[in-house]
Amino acid sequence: MLEYPHSLVSIQDYERFIGAEAVERIYAKAEPLEGIRTVNVNSTYYGGGVAEILNSRVLLMNGLGIEEGWRIIHGTPDFFSITKKMHNALQGAEINLTDRKRHIYEDVIFENAIRNHLDHDFVIIHDPQPLPMIKHYRKYGPWVWRCHIDLTRPNRELWDYLLPIIEKYDGVVFSIKEYAQKLRTPSVFIMPAIDPFSIKNKELDAEEVKERLDHYGIPTDLPLVAQVSRFDLWKDPMGVIEAFRLARKEVECTLVMVGNPATDDPEGAQVYESLLGCQEERIKILSVQDSALVNAVQRAAYVVVQKSLREGFGLTVAEAMWKGTPVIGGNVGGIRHQIRDGVNGFLVSSVTETAQRLVQLLKDKKLREEMGRKARETVKENFLMSRYVEQNLDLYNSFETIYRMHPAPGLA
Ligand code: UDP
Repeated sequence: MLEYPHSLVSIQDYERFIGAEAVERIYAKAEPLEGIRTVNVNSTYYGGGVAEILNSRVLLMNGLGIEEGWRIIHGTPDFFSITKKMHNALQGAEINLTDRKRHIYEDVIFENAIRNHLDHDFVIIHDPQPLPMIKHYRKYGPWVWRCHIDLTRPNRELWDYLLPIIEKYDGVVFSIKEYAQKLRTPSVFIMPAIDPFSIKNKELDAEEVKERLDHYGIPTDLPLVAQVSRFDLWKDPMGVIEAFRLARKEVECTLVMVGNPATDDPEGAQVYESLLGCQEERIKILSVQDSALVNAVQRAAYVVVQKSLREGFGLTVAEAMWKGTPVIGGNVGGIRHQIRDGVNGFLVSSVTETAQRLVQLLKDKKLREEMGRKARETVKENFLMSRYVEQNLDLYNSFETIYRMHPAPGLA
């Protein structure tokens, strides 16, 4: 066998950020759970916030002695086109929910249920794509639906269709209280978090940053403004370009928009292509899958924009804030829980407001530094993976009596 020094980040590594006491507390919460088998199910292994969180969370949980797994459902293009429409409708868009669509959705999930044998002590199903999985299993422990979407105003027709499925779960997790729905199933609220040790968030020196930007031909002669997001209309990419064009009338700068395709988001390619016509010397639009580039761009930018119109949480906001970069974020969803307007960033509701804040920040180095410092502090206090893991341990422990009875077939 090849000798290779593998190493994994553990909760112990977070001590430098959260202190020894918090680390001890997390280990103590994990101790009674040692050896339980848990599994996450979602619909992509890269290209969005859910995959990003699962990457770190699953490894940390295993380091804590929990046998946590991660399964990804397979689907046809038709299936992902329908589930993206559902995603949009849960965020408030219209949907034409025909029988044909329901059948494709439920048939693909049935096939996934046949392929995946889930007899775990705890099952966590992420977002609407694999939601109906629960219909096809005998439960051996609690099943939780973890919804990452901005549910401020879900489309009622779709919600009514999904509700009986959601209520089969033993618990539902939303990112923030504002997304609570009328449900018979108990709800808890856990905000996502970032991994400070990942390639995307770890420290980079100026040379490493420059190397990545040069590699993609991103000019650094003028102040950089950036948005990093899947190419999705909810992220309002055209609004970002319009705001940038307005701001540029007053301050010289370059805009870079970095996005990646996600296997469960078939609309991305179309949105990306629709933006290409806006490319010019000072507007770069890149579709790549490169975490080190995301890291470099979020560090090099004078200002990061996340001008979302809906946003379940917005990991990209916390990622940039962690790097000490001030963020101008849409005044929606989870972004409002990260940015305190005028303190560690700005919240905006229009293109003109975005442009005004861009000009203000680009012209004022002291303000950028002050907000950036507070932004990093906010993430350190609230949005690191250690807090996220701890809250999920609390969730596991809250069901303790159920799985301690071990295993009770037909529990459902
Ligand atoms: N992301 C990336 N490359 C890109 C665009 C996005 O790695 O080109 C990552 C981004 O850094 C973040 C995640 O995808 O970790 C997006 O999560 P967020 O919560 O902001 O939005 P979502 O895509 O889940 O709606």
